[in-house]
Amino acid sequence: MRRLLRVTPGAVADLGAVDPRSTPGLPGPEVTGRRRKEWARRQVGLVGAELGRQQEMLFADAKAREAGRGGGADGPGAAAGRRVLLVLQAMDCGGKDGTIKRVAGAMNPLGLHVRSFGPPTSEELRHDFLWRIRRALPPPGQVGVFNRSHYEDVLVARVDSLVPESIWQARYDEINAFEREQVDAGVALVKVMLHISYAEQGRRLLERLDEPRKHWKYDPSDIDARARWDDYQAAYAEALGRCGTDAAPWYVVPADRKWYRDWAVAHLLRETFDTLDLGYPPAGFDVRRERERLLGPGRTA
Ligand code: AMP
Ligand code: MG
Repeated sequence: MRRLLRVTPGAVADLGAVDPRSTPGLPGPEVTGRRRKEWARRQVGLVGAELGRQQEMLFADAKAREAGRGGGADGPGAAAGRRVLLVLQAMDCGGKDGTIKRVAGAMNPLGLHVRSFGPPTSEELRHDFLWRIRRALPPPGQVGVFNRSHYEDVLVARVDSLVPESIWQARYDEINAFEREQVDAGVALVKVMLHISYAEQGRRLLERLDEPRKHWKYDPSDIDARARWDDYQAAYAEALGRCGTDAAPWYVVPADRKWYRDWAVAHLLRETFDTLDLGYPPAGFDVRRERERLLGPGRTA
């Protein structure tokens, strides 16, 4: 999946070439049967269990290192600060919340570090745009999820001219340097754009308006952003192209079909975990002796 969905580094990403209704990598009917949606949902459950296991090993490994013992799969340098960070970007209604619920939700809340980014607060505005991002990074051993991210500073900031062009233009390089630094510190970055179509966004916005229980998800400014759809697509294409590096690749996940979206993101995460080559750390105590102590004479009556 990583190979299939990955944005080619260097070029401006060609989002127009990715059909938001497509399902790259999904096996044919000989594997899925006729009900591929149900099949994909079941698979997300299975991959989710695997994600949970991987997350536990990451957590255990960091705990062992903290206690001064080498982790399972020992490696120099970066291994000490290993963590995973899933960055989710999308237009409104792109499915960020649903992906977090269904994919990240398969993991243990104890090892999850989920952060959402809205318009900067007055305090955040007093610092450079990466300040709040640095503070939100997951600690070693954790799986971080960013619901929007520093990319908003080259997306909405650019489309709505929140800062002069010279400022947002400089940010692509700043982002690349920042991400390089994080990767060197042990962060496995998985940057995912959930790619929905204009028509699908329209359907989902209408659903939010027509269903009182979804009104809390609706924001009148969503329509303003929708009116600038083409500008946003252009801003996304440039951000993904310029900041899709070998160290921190971008993936475009077709997201009109929610079941495909979840299935694809779950696989991207699992494949990323695989590259970490995790294992459970060895015990930091003498297991045999501890057994003897446990089974030996108990409390004195
Ligand atoms: P939501 O994710 O739907 O809760 O909306 C969050 C809103 O915050 C979106 O409209 C984003 O465009 C906006 N936002 C996030 N980061 C920034 C930023 N750095 N500058 C301006 N607006 C932002
Ligand atoms: Mg919104």
